[in-house]
Amino acid sequence: MPDTNNKVLCPDCQAEIKGESPMLGDILECQECGTEVEIISTTPLRYRELIEEK
Ligand SMILES: [Zn+2]
Repeated sequence: MPDTNNKVLCPDCQAEIKGESPMLGDILECQECGTEVEIISTTPLRYRELIEEK
């Protein structure tokens, strides 16, 4: 298995969210479903889903 430590998986659809090395505080958007995740830690990589409120 390739290392998965630096991959961000969409919490909604499990698609891999592509990105060059994620930085703390980055917000990445899933290309599949549009869910946004915020990087809350880089070592180890941790992130959380951003709930969009409008
Ligand atoms: Zn998704």
